[in-house]
Amino acid sequence: MPTCKDCKFYTPVDVRTGNCSNLGSEVLADIDTGMCPLRTFQPKD
Ligand code: SF4
Repeated sequence: MPTCKDCKFYTPVDVRTGNCSNLGSEVLADIDTGMCPLRTFQPKD
């Protein structure tokens, strides 16, 4: 399963965390995208 770090809305801050532009807050890199609170995972191009 892909994780938040594989999502086009994710911008890394460090190896463990990044900002989700869709959520407007910081998320953990390794959250399973099946757990996306917005259900808006899209793979990076
Ligand atoms: S949109 Fe969902 S899957 Fe993508 S980075 Fe944000 S929280 Fe993670």
